[in-house]
Amino acid sequence: MLNRDQEALAAPLLTRREDLLARLQAPGQWDLVVVGGGATGLGVALQAAREGLTVALLEANDLAQGTSSRSTKLVHGGVRYLAQGHWPLVREALHERRGLLDRAPHLAQPLAFVMPTYRWGEQAFYGAGLKLYEWLAASASLGKTRFLGRQATQASIAGVRTQGLRGGVQYWDGQFDDARLAVALARTAAREGACVINHVTVKSLIYEEGRVVGVRAQDAEQGAEFELRASCVVNATGVWVDGLRLADGRQRGQALPDLVSPSQGVHLVVDASFWPGDKALLVPKTADGRVLFAVPWLGKVLLGTTDTARADAPREPRPAHEEVDLILKEASRYLRKAPVRQDVLSAWAGLRPLVKAEATLSPPSGATQNISREHHVEVSASGLVTVTGGKWTTYHAMAEDVLRQARKQAGLKMPMRAMAEAYRLVGAPSPGSPAAGLTLPAGAHLYGSEQDWVKALPGGDTELTPGLTEGMVRFAARHEYARTVEDVLARRSRCLFLDAALAKALAPRVAEILAEELGIDPGLANFEALADDYARCP
Ligand SMILES: Cc1cc2nc3c(=O)[nH]c(=O)nc-3n(C[C@H](O)[C@H](O)[C@H](O)COP(=O)(O)OP(=O)(O)OC[C@H]3O[C@@H](n4cnc5c(N)ncnc54)[C@H](O)[C@@H]3O)c2cc1C
Repeated sequence: MLNRDQEALAAPLLTRREDLLARLQAPGQWDLVVVGGGATGLGVALQAAREGLTVALLEANDLAQGTSSRSTKLVHGGVRYLAQGHWPLVREALHERRGLLDRAPHLAQPLAFVMPTYRWGEQAFYGAGLKLYEWLAASASLGKTRFLGRQATQASIAGVRTQGLRGGVQYWDGQFDDARLAVALARTAAREGACVINHVTVKSLIYEEGRVVGVRAQDAEQGAEFELRASCVVNATGVWVDGLRLADGRQRGQALPDLVSPSQGVHLVVDASFWPGDKALLVPKTADGRVLFAVPWLGKVLLGTTDTARADAPREPRPAHEEVDLILKEASRYLRKAPVRQDVLSAWAGLRPLVKAEATLSPPSGATQNISREHHVEVSASGLVTVTGGKWTTYHAMAEDVLRQARKQAGLKMPMRAMAEAYRLVGAPSPGSPAAGLTLPAGAHLYGSEQDWVKALPGGDTELTPGLTEGMVRFAARHEYARTVEDVLARRSRCLFLDAALAKALAPRVAEILAEELGIDPGLANFEALADDYARCP
């Protein structure tokens, strides 16, 4: 393993697709094949590679294209679980929160939240809960929970509605750039020897004597199909896990019920003037009983979210008119300057993979193990390991649970290294170096220790828009697995999520650079249609 200085100096690995495909198609057997390149699958691949296993990860679309780029961007313990008495769950997540912030300080940082109070007794009630939250974090605490008077609340969150304001409570959690963190996980896994590839779909599982022994995959760009053999296959396809899981059941003649019920969460992005400053707003209980956040992020403000059950799980879910109404209506109750539809710069939705309680209580799948926390891991009678649920913040704990099960069922070798050792992700600046806040607009700071590599590329100083250079687009193509305009403008840069009209305007130039770098059609027309959707607030 590289030491810290070597890591900082090491040239970024190339993510040349021909090389990755050749590696995947070479004869041989992997210890682990992971299906799905969101937070969960990437966490598993990274941890497996760190533990000395040979691992391949296949993602059908782009890294984090599913739920993992559509979160509220909070690295958190889950304040809402306190009220339900799930203290051990919260304590574990708070511990994971600390670990995540330490591993990638350029992409994940502490953030102060303020909860304004308007009714008598609210401050004492919520304040006590948030004190408990701080206490549960113990040495992983990010800062003190403080009670604020009316004036101090106004001074710390200038955008709050002041009519009837009594005071507030300030507490600490974290925020991050979810899609860039996913890419950092992938690149770190690759540095540790994993073979990660996007735009490759797993079509089916391969069986021998009733056991899963590999996957059949298809290159989404060229259409070629190939097979991978593995001692263990991990189904980490998020809200889509039931696809492979139910097919696995059918193979054994079993009709399984679904494990996941998707729940849609919508975010609206508005200009920073609607919520100025560098602290987030938490409303613990809206009129319809949800949690509302206003989070300053990369120079804009995220408002969200909703929680709407869905029967389907489209690749690109869209916000419903009523969901937008709900967010705008609640925002107008707490924000001094209330946004309206015309103010929304980008509107997007993600699907939570909620695990059905009944499926975890009596697993009908022939599961041999069943860890029921916020996430769920099960091993089918044919050896398929399925993991879903949980949250971004706990990706590492989920990976450890998965590997424990994978080892047991496939007899994989034990870790070769001392895994308690802390690790940092590719691009993490050396400890102690100043990190620019994630509330500030995007820029070179998001590249951490790799900024000089990005600047040294052709067009390293040529801005397409403030915070996005030609060099960054080339870096995305050469070192960050980007293949399409969408990969670049939605997930390497977050422009689509922040300002969809701007993303559309930048797309033609990004397409030219990608065509030059990769020699393929980078899907400009598709992206322009997508950007129109994000810009159109239903
Ligand atoms: C609105 C919302 C807000 C949230 N906010 C937070 C937050 O602030 N903090 C937090 O910690 N958590 C948050 N979460 C939860 C968190 O985002 C999810 O738990 C996490 O992203 C799930 O990751 P995943 O890898 O399991 O799923 P995904 O990210 O969906 O990844 C699954 C991947 O599998 C791929 N796939 C599917 N089928 C195949 C196939 N056949 N072959 C290959 N690949 C396939 C998909 O393309 C997809 O990329 C939020 C979730 C939502 C919906």
